[in-house]
Amino acid sequence: QTTLTTKAKDPYPDWKPGEPVPYAALCKTFSLIELTTKRLIIMEHCSLFLRQVLRLTPDDLLPTVLLMINKLAPDYAGIELGIGESLIMKAIGESTGRSLAVIKQDQKEIGDLGLVAVKSRSTQPTMFKPKALTIRGVHNGLMGIATVTGNGAQGRKVDGIKKLLSAADANSPGKVDITKDKGGPSEAKYIVRFLEGKLRLGLAERTILVSLAQAMIAHEAYKKNTVPSTGDIEKAESILKTVYSELPSYDVIIPAMVEHGIMNLREHCKLRPGVPLKPMLAKPTKAITEVLDRFDGQTFTCEYKYDGERAQIHYVAKDADEELSQSLPSAAATEVGRGVAAIFSRNSEELSKKYPDVLAKLQSWVKEDTKSFVLDCESVAWDVTEKKVLPFQQLMTRKKKDVKIEEVKVKVCVFAFDLLYLNGEAIVEKSLRERRELLHKSFNPVEGEFAFATCMDGQELDEIQTFLDLSVKASCEGLMVKMLDGTESGYEPSKRSRNWLKIKKDYLAGIGDSLDLVVLGAYHGKGKRTSVYGAFLLACYNPVTETYETVCNIGTGFSEAVLEELHTALVETVIDRPKPFYAHSTGGQHQPDVWFEPRFVWEVKTADLTLSPRYKAGMKEGVDPAGDKGISLRFPRFIKVRDDKKPDEATTSRQVAEMYRKQESVTKSKGPAADDDF
Ligand code: ATP
Repeated sequence: QTTLTTKAKDPYPDWKPGEPVPYAALCKTFSLIELTTKRLIIMEHCSLFLRQVLRLTPDDLLPTVLLMINKLAPDYAGIELGIGESLIMKAIGESTGRSLAVIKQDQKEIGDLGLVAVKSRSTQPTMFKPKALTIRGVHNGLMGIATVTGNGAQGRKVDGIKKLLSAADANSPGKVDITKDKGGPSEAKYIVRFLEGKLRLGLAERTILVSLAQAMIAHEAYKKNTVPSTGDIEKAESILKTVYSELPSYDVIIPAMVEHGIMNLREHCKLRPGVPLKPMLAKPTKAITEVLDRFDGQTFTCEYKYDGERAQIHYVAKDADEELSQSLPSAAATEVGRGVAAIFSRNSEELSKKYPDVLAKLQSWVKEDTKSFVLDCESVAWDVTEKKVLPFQQLMTRKKKDVKIEEVKVKVCVFAFDLLYLNGEAIVEKSLRERRELLHKSFNPVEGEFAFATCMDGQELDEIQTFLDLSVKASCEGLMVKMLDGTESGYEPSKRSRNWLKIKKDYLAGIGDSLDLVVLGAYHGKGKRTSVYGAFLLACYNPVTETYETVCNIGTGFSEAVLEELHTALVETVIDRPKPFYAHSTGGQHQPDVWFEPRFVWEVKTADLTLSPRYKAGMKEGVDPAGDKGISLRFPRFIKVRDDKKPDEATTSRQVAEMYRKQESVTKSKGPAADDDF
């Protein structure tokens, strides 16, 4: 925090007040960040740069932060670049006058498309000097690429990329040595990496959030000709973290922060209907006794853990005092009876096109004096004749988009388990007991359409065991056990919290939670599987290094029909060679036959975890003292595709390492990994 309390030098001197921020200035900061792994230094580079933006061109703060976090808009806006490696290669070739074959050859040798772009650019003779790129120009250009649709969209995407690449590095056309300084501050490199979805700077979104708070408080002090105190800096960081967790939209927060100051941000930016929050998540446990140990005398409550899809429902009545947020893309808010509503997934994706049947009935569950709310629910497939919950697989057979109510075959019932906002007020800080009371008071359950999650407040081991058995009989996955009273029982957006524990029926005898892994490669099938892939290479995600670390090969748990479906989807994502951010074994015999873009996440179960020199998972977590083995899954089994998770939401290397360590300690202290308590 040294530079916060001193008058630091501008990191980029050649930009004048009021001018659009030069993209080269951001790239210079990126290149400095790329040369270090120290979080504090990274943060200092970030906050210095953001301070300069705030002082000279505050209007550009929003696109600057977005380009730093490798996003174009908040998740709920549904804006995806949707660009594969082949389109990028085509654009690099065409914008630099090099053939696709040469680009592919370079890609084979260098392995990093960003650097291929740098190399291509620096060998091109410059006929005339294009205008230098600006941050807002790059953001607009990328937005244009992301939003083209219709006939010839692919071609126009390539044109958009070419336009950016042709203007990249306008002021530094000289030859760049790509082996030095990781290719330096090349604009082409970072544009290509943005398009690939991985800047690979070790720049976590959380780091940017803290840097932004630091930059803002330092800027405010600078205007008053003072320096911020450590207390102020800490307060600013905590305010911004809280605000962002309740309202994860820089589009809303940044203009408010610039206008009202960071210390007043909470008054202006609160949880509001229309902006989905990242949901609170639970920690896995392996035994009821573990749950009892954790809560240790504090009151908790158990609820059925329904096996469906998380749904966050936002609603505002037309005669309410507030409006469903202006920032919501207009198509996302649907008129429902007396109000307007939207449904969001666990990922903050907008789901109203998937659940028009839910929206159509929504109003009938809302009591007359309930004027606005944000509900946390699970939407579950429902057997209309038997009047009971159906397995998750049934829900998956529903169409994902453009569902027509008349054509819905699999009905869903919405099980509400939490209420986060009611009648104009965020209630996340109230205790769960109070939130639950408000939930039960504000809605009318309707059989087979809308219900409150079944709950039980007994605190004894055998009561919980009985309730767990009942949940399994009711086709649920097990139980969620939650802190019921006191501040710890508040709703913690985006957190995997120890105040929510999950007990899944499958954990009890096995290794614990299933894993959600990214498909990186595949092996051609043999025998009757020759037309499809027969086995796959899977990886977990390391958010610190931004790499996918291999963890197993898998060929079990697939039906022939599923293999065909997976083949059709995966073929579209084949790439020539592994991405530079794949950590995998390079030994010849361990290479898959084909590699894929990191796009699909699969849920996988395993018998146990072991160390193996063939895989890389958790290597950086110190599980192997010698440092040359990673963790691998033994007898992995495919469960389902997790459409609701993005690759960087896969199980992390740290979680895999934790699972491995837990298993190790169980094995050491109690013999076999089976659970003693059952
Ligand atoms: P999982 O594969 O277990 O769903 P996850 O990472 O998606 O893992 P977890 O935090 O592990 O999420 O488990 C909580 C999930 O369980 C929620 O995201 C929600 O979709 C679902 N769920 C079902 N019933 C409840 C309930 N009563 N309370 C909270 N979450 C519930």
